[in-house]
Parts: sequence; structure tokens; C-alpha cells
Amino acid sequence: MARNATRTPVVGGNWKMNTDRASAAELAAAVAAERQASVEVIVFPPFPYLLQVRKVLDDAGGAVALGAQDLWHEPNGAFTGEISTDMLQDCGVQAFLAGHSERRHVIGESDELVNRKLLAGLAAGLTAVLCVGETLEQRGAGQTDEVNSRQIRAGLAGVAPQQMASVVIAYEPVWAIGTGKTATPADAQDAHAKIRALLADLYGTDIAEATRIQYGGSVKPANAAELFGQPDIDGGLIGGASLKAGDFLGIVRAAAE
Ligand code: PGA
Repeated sequence: MARNATRTPVVGGNWKMNTDRASAAELAAAVAAERQASVEVIVFPPFPYLLQVRKVLDDAGGAVALGAQDLWHEPNGAFTGEISTDMLQDCGVQAFLAGHSERRHVIGESDELVNRKLLAGLAAGLTAVLCVGETLEQRGAGQTDEVNSRQIRAGLAGVAPQQMASVVIAYEPVWAIGTGKTATPADAQDAHAKIRALLADLYGTDIAEATRIQYGGSVKPANAAELFGQPDIDGGLIGGASLKAGDFLGIVRAAAE
């Protein structure tokens, strides 16, 4: 099965609430030291380290993009603890995650809030990574496609066709995140193909074929090549393995092959 050659794979490193000031700079420098021209790489450090990671990435030539793990959809005002798109762009952020499962299921974000954040980030000119995926219970109940469809339809509500070039979808089955369990390449491919078919319904075939759909959930150097070799899997969103530069670069290399 040949991977689609028209979409540039994108590999994201979601550092979550990990690293400290020194290790964030070190990790960013190590990731930026190797370049695979055929892969887009984005790192998502914790907010306090965005500025210094920006500098490290710039010093390395700026090929690795900087992402934020979240944002708030209002431009400014009385929103204690929140971060606006202007603030992120002021720190050199180019991309953001919307609807990561930890925000949906631990923090309690609704489809509607995810949509507002996505629209605000896109309006600001940022690249959006919309994360979707079913829980173990939903999978057991045969609701995988229904959940993905609901989260994508709701997440993309109001997104114009011309904005879709700035949208990446990350399919991350919740039961596979941080658990060491990975969807089989065939199961992941099946979910990705259905997501692409849904995008075709919503936006037409050309946009569906051009949209990158990443897989996420316990991706490691050892399983990355087989996952990324599936025709509808366009790279990955990496949590645990993104904290070790060697592992993350191994995954980036797998996406380049
Ligand atoms: P994981 O996390 O690679 O540790 O499973 C993936 C993610 O949450 O994006």
C-alpha cells in the first residue's frame, strides 16, 4: 500500500505538561538539529517555554514549527488563566491543538468550545490541529465512526473551504493515548479513510484529498513506519515518545520514508 504522495506528512510533538526550562530548550535544539525536507515537524511545548523554544528553533534555522497546546477564543479581557491568539503569535506560535482528548475528557471541553477555539485560531492565521477519537467504551459499543463524525462536524462548523488548507485532523483513539496500546495499522487506516470520506461530504473530494490526517496514540519508532505506510495516514501526533529526541526523530524519519 503506497502512501499518498501529494500530502506532506506532518509530525507533531505534544510535550503536554512535561519538561522544564532547561530540558525544553535542550529537546527543541535536538529536534531541530535534524531536518527531513519531506516532513513538516511541529513541537508543542508548555506555554511558559514557548518564547525560549521559539528562539532555539530560530537559531536552528526555523524549519521546525512552534505550536501551542491550547488557546482561548476571545481576543482579550477578563479570562483569568487563559491565553489569546494574539499573545501566542506575539511569542512566534504558528499552530495549535484543538480538542485534544485530555482537554475534552479531563478538563471537560465541549464540542462547541473546541469549535470556538478552532475558529479563533484559524481566523488569526494559525494552523489548527483538530484532535478527535473515541474512548474505549465508545469503541466497545461500535461508536468509533459516529464519535469521529460528530467531533469533526462540530469542530469544523463554520470553517470555510479556503480555511481547510490550515487544518490538520489528528485521529487519536483515547484508549491508545499514553497506554502503550496502538490501533492496528488496519484499524487506524479504516478510521482515517472514513474521516476522509466525511471530509469529502463536507468539503468535496479535492479538499478531502489535500487534508492531512495524523494518527496519534502510543506511536513509537518501532510502530511508526507501518502506521505511516497506510494510504490515509499522514504522519502522527506524538506524546510520550516526543519527549526523547532520539525517539521523536526516529518517528520523523519513518514519516519521511
Ligand atoms: P502518546 O500521546 O503518544 O503518549 O500516546 C499522544 C497524544 O496525546 O497526542
